Amino acid sequence: MQSTDTQTRQQYCIELEETLCDGCRKCLPACSYTALIWVRASDELLVDIWACTGCGSCVTVCPQKALSLQPRNVG
Ligand code: SF4
Ligand code: SF4
Repeated sequence: MQSTDTQTRQQYCIELEETLCDGCRKCLPACSYTALIWVRASDELLVDIWACTGCGSCVTVCPQKALSLQPRNVG
């Protein structure tokens, strides 16, 4: 199944540094898990940390380095 994904998801999730994000939206197509959501009404990026698998794809495409993987605290 998706043991590696599940393992990573338990360990890391994406964190957005909003002050660095310039809204270029290059990260959106990089995420295959719909964890990055562009909210048109407020013109901002939202992160669904429960959809995020911690794959890191978005981190590498963000020109502003606004996205980073952080250890996830699992209760
Ligand atoms: S790629 Fe980076 S700067 Fe561009 S919208 Fe995504 S988080 Fe913001
Ligand atoms: S780390 Fe992967 S799953 Fe999480 S938001 Fe970025 S691209 Fe999507």
